[in-house]
Amino acid sequence: MDRLETYALKNNIPIMQKDGILFLIDYIKNYKINTILEIGTAIGYSAINMALINENIQIITIERDKERYEEAMKNIARFGLEKQIKVILGDALEIGVTGKFDLIFIDAAKAQYIKFFEKYKVNLNEHGVIISDNLNFHGLTQKPEAITSKNLRALVTKINKYKDFLKNNAEFKTSFLDIGDGLAISKKVD
Ligand code: SAH
Ligand code: MG
Repeated sequence: MDRLETYALKNNIPIMQKDGILFLIDYIKNYKINTILEIGTAIGYSAINMALINENIQIITIERDKERYEEAMKNIARFGLEKQIKVILGDALEIGVTGKFDLIFIDAAKAQYIKFFEKYKVNLNEHGVIISDNLNFHGLTQKPEAITSKNLRALVTKINKYKDFLKNNAEFKTSFLDIGDGLAISKKVD
């Protein structure tokens, strides 16, 4: 696992922060989550951490970058987790997935979060949960005026739009947590 963390750091791959992944692991244990759909595999770090919780956990994870996909496949094989983790190479907005999941974990292109949410909510089990990562975006979402780059500011605006979308969503109730880089936990309203 250290090797994956070092590789990510060296190659600028935004894997989950330590306290974020620890929270996710606890959450999966507490709520006895078995099936997981992840949008944004990167090199497989979060998927491997989740799969290692117990062998009943089944994960489908989607990655659009070929190099990262290949790195993820290698890492999953190193841990012997091929039976638990299925990686799909493709753009999550173009492909689709069948089946229902206890947890959908959104951790891909931040500007597309509303689209991911709207597209994949049909894949959620009745008492399922959608968890989204990076809603603090390194603290930048709370102080957009401090950002000088235009692109970055546009991205932060999109993340804040996603937060508003969640806050105003009548179908889901969301809690925002200041853990890792900011997590949102969205559950269907009964
Ligand atoms: N969940 C990983 C980190 C993912 S980083 C971990 O914590 O270990 C985000 C990844 O999402 C990147 O590798 C990026 O290539 C991928 N991504 C971004 N937009 C995507 C899309 N539309 N479809 C599939 N993958 C996407
Ligand atoms: Mg992330």
